[in-house]
Amino acid sequence: MVQLRVPGPTPCPPEVLAAMGRQMVNHRGPEFHQLLTEVTEDLKKVFQTKNDVLLLTGSGTGGMEAAVTNMLSPGDKVLSVSIGVFGDRFASIAKTFGAEIVPLKVEWGKAADPEDVRRALKQNPDVKAVLVTHNETSTGVTNDLGAISRVVKEAGKLIIVDAISSLSSIDLPVDAWKCDVVITGSQKGWMVPPGMTMVSVSEEAWKAHAVAKMPRFYWDFTRAKKNYEEKKENPWTPAISIVFALNVALKMMLKEGIQNIFARHARVGRMTREGVKKLGLSLFADEKYASNTVTAVNIPEGVDGKKMRQILRDEYKVVLAGGQQTLDGKIFRIGHLGMVYEKDIEEVLAAIEAVLPRVGFKK
Ligand SMILES: *Cc1c(COP(=O)(O)O)cnc(C)c1O
Repeated sequence: MVQLRVPGPTPCPPEVLAAMGRQMVNHRGPEFHQLLTEVTEDLKKVFQTKNDVLLLTGSGTGGMEAAVTNMLSPGDKVLSVSIGVFGDRFASIAKTFGAEIVPLKVEWGKAADPEDVRRALKQNPDVKAVLVTHNETSTGVTNDLGAISRVVKEAGKLIIVDAISSLSSIDLPVDAWKCDVVITGSQKGWMVPPGMTMVSVSEEAWKAHAVAKMPRFYWDFTRAKKNYEEKKENPWTPAISIVFALNVALKMMLKEGIQNIFARHARVGRMTREGVKKLGLSLFADEKYASNTVTAVNIPEGVDGKKMRQILRDEYKVVLAGGQQTLDGKIFRIGHLGMVYEKDIEEVLAAIEAVLPRVGFKK
């Protein structure tokens, strides 16, 4: 079996894949009404929220764009807390639609300091919303979202969270942390193929939405909410097969129990970091904030990281991710989210250990 260990898409359980093979149903018919209701209610349990959860067809980036355009107006000031590639992407989207960005950029590999967020909000009292990444997939860092959210809500601002690679794998109690908009994507910790993005919307977020003027059509939250509440439908044709898959995956997740899932990711994350260090490699991320869904590993001097990943893929069927943007050639990343157990990490570490001496590594 291939060990697909990139931070999305992630391997899917056979039951989930089988659900994808089901015959189509009418997306305006009773089977789909029942399906969408069930999936939405189950999603709320994993989001740990009583807020609305909208199922939108698209990848995670679509969900990010939806969050931006549904909450903001051109000219609105937003504080962008960025600790890596995906934080920067969030700011780019907001900028594209006319928001004024106040950047809070953190050195890659580190987490954002909630006190810096507090200071930035104090210096910019006219900021309307804060964009933040819960788990930065490009650097393998998890922000202390609970603490950041407390600061943002104390200042009375909206908090919009990219939780695409954390929600369902790392604890994110949406209501307890008062997160206004939280975005995730089916191909990450949900054990489902790519195709759907799921977004929670708080009461405060709905108020902001009511006056938000950025252009939107396909992603309009009012249309999504109205169609769901009145008809248990999506406004447009959804990726029905992905909803079949998500329904099965959610049942499996709720059976395992979300706290057990978080604990499993914590175990697997720790095991990956310890294993990597034991091989004589070092971690890219500040270990205090190291992610339990993706581990970024420094490529040592003299080691050909691309060749390493190529041999791992071709000879060991272990697929790892490289670094993005300026981290290309500097790090490699091991995804460990969704369907992942200790045995998988053992296999991955053993394969890396076998390949390292062939690509210039001297311990
Ligand atoms: C994967 C990912 C995205 C982008 O999602 P797509 O589904 O590729 O559009 C955004 N943010 C984070 C943190 C991610 O891990």
